[in-house]
Amino acid sequence: MADMWHSEKTHEGLLRITIDRKDRPVNALSRSVMEELGELVRTIRSDKSIRGVMFQSGKPSIFIAGADITEFDDLTDTAAAEEVSTFGQSVFQELEELMVPTVALISGACLGGGLEFALACRYRVASSHANTKLGLPEVQLGLLPGWGGTVRLPRQIGLIDALPLVLSGRQLGGFQARSKGVVHEVVPPEALDSVGETIIRAHLEYGSASRLFRASKKPGWQRFLEGTSAAKKFALKKARQQVMSKTHGHYPAPLAIIETFQKGLSADDRQRFRIEAKAIAGLAANPVTRECIRLFFLQEEAKKPPAELGAKFDAKDLKQAAVIGAGAMGAGIALLLARKGVATRLKDIKPEFVARGVKTVRDLLKKDMQRKKLTRRQAEEVFDRLSPATDYRGLKHSDVIIEAVVEVPDIKRQVFAELAEATNSETVLATNTSSLLVSDVARDVPHPERVVGLHFFNPPHQMPLVEVIRTEQTSDAALAKAFAVVQRLGKTPVVVGDCAGFLVNRLLGPYMNEAGFILTEVANPMEIEKAAVDFGMPMGPLALSDLVGLDVAAHVADNLYQAYGERMKQAPIWGALKQLREKIGSQPKLLAEDGRSIQESVLRCIADLRKQSGISGRAVLSRKEIANRLVFPVINEAAICLAEGIARRPEDIDLAMVFGTGFAPFRGGPLQYALSIGIQTVVDSLEELAKTHPHLTPSEPLRDCASRGSFAATPGGTSDANRNESGHASRAAG
Ligand code: NAD
Repeated sequence: MADMWHSEKTHEGLLRITIDRKDRPVNALSRSVMEELGELVRTIRSDKSIRGVMFQSGKPSIFIAGADITEFDDLTDTAAAEEVSTFGQSVFQELEELMVPTVALISGACLGGGLEFALACRYRVASSHANTKLGLPEVQLGLLPGWGGTVRLPRQIGLIDALPLVLSGRQLGGFQARSKGVVHEVVPPEALDSVGETIIRAHLEYGSASRLFRASKKPGWQRFLEGTSAAKKFALKKARQQVMSKTHGHYPAPLAIIETFQKGLSADDRQRFRIEAKAIAGLAANPVTRECIRLFFLQEEAKKPPAELGAKFDAKDLKQAAVIGAGAMGAGIALLLARKGVATRLKDIKPEFVARGVKTVRDLLKKDMQRKKLTRRQAEEVFDRLSPATDYRGLKHSDVIIEAVVEVPDIKRQVFAELAEATNSETVLATNTSSLLVSDVARDVPHPERVVGLHFFNPPHQMPLVEVIRTEQTSDAALAKAFAVVQRLGKTPVVVGDCAGFLVNRLLGPYMNEAGFILTEVANPMEIEKAAVDFGMPMGPLALSDLVGLDVAAHVADNLYQAYGERMKQAPIWGALKQLREKIGSQPKLLAEDGRSIQESVLRCIADLRKQSGISGRAVLSRKEIANRLVFPVINEAAICLAEGIARRPEDIDLAMVFGTGFAPFRGGPLQYALSIGIQTVVDSLEELAKTHPHLTPSEPLRDCASRGSFAATPGGTSDANRNESGHASRAAG
């Protein structure tokens, strides 16, 4: 028994139901919880003394988090998925049909099945607390809402507003939810209960409580137009075009959502529920859905501190922090900390540089206010937690300090020496360096065991991944604290060992570099971009190189070559582009402005290179061949990272590449992809390619994995794969 619905009746016939699963920290809708709800609803229906029902959560930051994901493994079978959907729909239908008014008083996460539950209640009130989030994120798991969400949300707010919410899985704060019409009212958390009672009284007196709520902001003519079938059909057509251009048809869920809405246009509600159940059944067994669900589980798993860590630090105990360097990264990281309630010092060398960082923070907060993610008061509270500084005073009580100054080794070392003086030996010192070794930055620090790397990606407020880098000297206590920082920020941590490029850039390097080699070889270089996008990458490697900037890309490539030698040998085009940069005095872009062709000046570089090295430039490679050449070296390098213990387990590599680079999520990450096609296939292809491109020779660790048919550690403790060359067990593993 999950024991989640706890009811208490007042003498006025009001039933207060506290939602609080006693067996779990999360209110999740398992089969047994739904069965209990069904029984409860039938009891309410038969008890004539009950005049109204209020649902409120007993957990501080969760209303109902959604369906119980631990039961998702049972959904692989089409018939089982349809049955789960039909059963849930019927429970919520009975809830909706109760004659007495029902009010969902929502504070905390109200997602997926949780929001579908709330939509089946007559009224919804959200708390204004920042942790209140409402949404239907099923699409992110490769599914669609299957308990009536595709029927009730459009009924409540109109198809045109519902469609983007269901297609994106976007989560709304309380105020956003009210402005979209998802909830009727938004009130401070302490007022939820009394507002709920008022709604029920008004409903009992007037037959509806609608007079209590503000009218929709949309003018009547707009609501009328949006309700017409022509407008809905147009919206669906546009949505389909957008989905196709964004996902290239790789994801069945958004297309199934559009189709479900489309079929629903000419159906009644009963038929719409059937359409929804059939659609979710169709998705459940799809391999893409399985990969999306697997990644979700991996992400949840990654948020738990490594079991082997001999120290603990509760993320809630993080009180004070400082960020050194108020540039693009530093300001973003400081904002993240302040948003999560941590008092944060932001330090730079000159007042005007600190002011620039503070302005970055203020501008980002303004955007959050415009998007109704924060109220003015909440934004001011965040801002007040930030204290600008140009010196190191007051850092003695900091739990953690994150250094994000310019990427100049001597300056970083100098800053670390100053920090060692200014802090106590318990304070964790983290560097956000992207290309230096953490151990190198920490070289002269008196207590190097407290130094870690926290590698955020740009822009830090948007990118979900943070690499937590452990050096040979980092203590368990420091790693636990650094890990807790990432947990507190709501990001996904991946613990990795200290090496050039860490994990993500080390694996991305061969991918970008190979694009450079192919560029000079093929007749139509734009096929590189198309091949990568067809494979499922968010953009092609040439566009990515332009986004990162040639200077940074070249610096990373130099760094990797110095560290790893021949297999990271740089494609000649990068050297040629560096010369071009010197000639024109600015970073050249590879792609023309419209992104559809190669820049003329770059084409000239390519032509010169071909002449010098006798490359014909007439090779015709299929998109699949190009994708293999881009991705197989990544898999090869990943196997080496596992063998060296830089990554703790293959799943971390998949997670890091999907969340750090956008590596085709529906393929589950590079290693999952290798498993799906067979590791031996990768080895064979690389062997073939190595005949003309020796740097692509498959590594011993990859051959080992191929012969075992697995990237996983061998059973029985530390595996061969997780031992480095000197025989030491993995440092990343702790
Ligand atoms: P930036 O140039 O925007 O900012 C660096 C800031 O550090 C500047 O405001 C500068 O005044 C300040 N600074 C310099 N010396 C200082 C000192 N002694 N004390 C305090 N502040 C000092 O650089 P950024 O892009 O924010 O990068 C910062 C760090 O983050 C670098 O190590 C970089 O490699 C790393 N990083 C950058 C990215 C990215 O894409 N920009 C991504 C991940 C990591």
